[in-house]
Amino acid sequence: MRALVFEKRGIDFLEVRDFPSSPVRDDEVRLRVKLASINPVDLMAIESLPVSPLPHIPGSEFYGVVEEVGEKVTHVSVGDRVAVYTRLFDGTCSSCMRGDQTYCVNGKRVGVESQGGYAEEIVIPGRNVMKSDLSEEVLSSLPIAVLTPYHALRTVGVGVDDTVVVLGASGNTGIFAVQLAKRMGARVIAVTSREWVKEYADEVVDYPTAEEEVKRLTDGGMASVVVNSLGEKYWDLGLKLVGNHGKIVTYGGLTGGKVSLDVNKLYAKHASIVGTNRGNMAELLELLKLAKDLKVKVHRYYTLDEAREAFREFKHGNRDGRIFIRI
Ligand SMILES: [Zn+2]
Repeated sequence: MRALVFEKRGIDFLEVRDFPSSPVRDDEVRLRVKLASINPVDLMAIESLPVSPLPHIPGSEFYGVVEEVGEKVTHVSVGDRVAVYTRLFDGTCSSCMRGDQTYCVNGKRVGVESQGGYAEEIVIPGRNVMKSDLSEEVLSSLPIAVLTPYHALRTVGVGVDDTVVVLGASGNTGIFAVQLAKRMGARVIAVTSREWVKEYADEVVDYPTAEEEVKRLTDGGMASVVVNSLGEKYWDLGLKLVGNHGKIVTYGGLTGGKVSLDVNKLYAKHASIVGTNRGNMAELLELLKLAKDLKVKVHRYYTLDEAREAFREFKHGNRDGRIFIRI
């Protein structure tokens, strides 16, 4: 099979080459990968995260069609199009038994600690795939870009009484955080400079005027939940936008992870900061129903052969929407 592979660090060392196919064990399936997307974690895998094995195939978010099924796998058949939970888990440790597969003691991230999906095929445990007829773009956004904000919003219990402010609302996860919070009944204020987000959110405000606009829109109450995956650069703003008894939820630090925090502002507002990390299998199953009409803003589709260019654009380009790699 052909796969995007690297041995040395950096986008410049990515290359598409023939790679040996893996055999399918009893409890595994072989997928023909159809569409993959690019996430910050994929760029980090290429540039800095410890990865294994080497040579390494990155790709943590993708969907595929079942091509071969191990003897013990009964819930999917050859030809099924499937959503993929891209974290390997053993299903038997105490975390898994609690349904917290993210923290499986033997867990691995697909595309980081195991071979990923920027390849014509991938062999993956049957327990990681579920049949689905969602659109291609939604399916290849589910494992991280959709699941991560969904888990975050669920963790802080978003519901009809909430006003959720999403920073970075046009970004990889932001676009889905906005749509999912709406589906959970909340009023959603998106913070972004992109006009098109108006299609998804109740209100859209831009960064320079975000504080006064959120104040105006909430009659001074501010947000009950602020989603801030942007890190350092926008941390102060997030703290300004959260209301009394509000929650700031974070699952990333795109602009840096070191945050200076005025504790006086935190306790004066009785505010909480909550960190969350991806999501679990049960949530992915819920999303197979909830994500039906999710809209995906597409910046561009690349081919596997153009993957290097795709990563350059992801890193340096003025991207507006998601970048996909068609395989
Ligand atoms: Zn486990």
